[in-house]
Amino acid sequence: MSEPRLRDQLRVEPGTKVRLARFDPSDTHGHTKGASETELADGLVRLAGLQDRLWAEGKHPVLVILQGIDAAGKDGTVHHVMSAFSPQGCPVTDFKVPSSLEMGHDYLWRVHQHAPAKGEIAIFNRSHYEDVLVVRVHDLVPKATWKRRYDQINDWERMLVEEGTTVVKFFLVIDRDEQRRRFQDRFSDPTKRWKFKMGDLAERARWDDYTQAFEDALGRCSTAVAPWYLIPANKNWFRNLAVAEILGDVLEELKPAYPPIDPSVPADLVID
Ligand code: ADP
Repeated sequence: MSEPRLRDQLRVEPGTKVRLARFDPSDTHGHTKGASETELADGLVRLAGLQDRLWAEGKHPVLVILQGIDAAGKDGTVHHVMSAFSPQGCPVTDFKVPSSLEMGHDYLWRVHQHAPAKGEIAIFNRSHYEDVLVVRVHDLVPKATWKRRYDQINDWERMLVEEGTTVVKFFLVIDRDEQRRRFQDRFSDPTKRWKFKMGDLAERARWDDYTQAFEDALGRCSTAVAPWYLIPANKNWFRNLAVAEILGDVLEELKPAYPPIDPSVPADLVID
């Protein structure tokens, strides 16, 4: 019997009512820290090979979306997993509070510009999901507006998929206590203090509102063509390993291959 894959264990099945209180963010699905270093190293070598072929082939666009509450580890995932990829062909976009130019357009305008071209793996660090998360929690638009967006997001992602893009969405889950520890660490470590903002505490106070918004986004926008993966992220080593394995499985399915050699090149060519 083949090993269970995290891809199957962590995917949110379409139509599921997600209850984060029932989800264990410390679960490591049988993986151990001791073995994780080698496992991750192997996973990164695998990802590097897949991206090299994907980029050379120039056929498939891949969009990777990272979401999670503050300090869930989105930046860390970019650093420790996406570092397997050559920066050529792997643009990373951080979506912050929209600029006035961005606010002058519909909410998908700014994200669509950063959607991947063929052969690229585009990473979204936050995304259009902010428009049903922070925007909902802070009442930045009327309820009727954000409520319509789940279907709009599903339609937009389906369009991308129908046009050839592979969409992979990772939601990193930590618990409240782990967030407290990470904020405290950030504050105490002079190399991390710059990341800490008082506003983070105001957001933390809205934990329950965010949880509700997360559950709706996960439940309503995990589709057969663009599923969400719920990643237990209390342990950084497992988070990295899980994202690397799932991404590797998804990319492998695309069967990226180096393009055939130019037929005008003689098989016995020797260059002097
Ligand atoms: P990080 O992503 O590392 O936390 P910041 O501390 O600059 O970076 O936070 C970016 C902030 O931008 C977050 O609080 C996020 O919720 C907010 N943001 C992102 N997209 C939107 C949006 N569409 N509307 C309002 N706020 C947004």
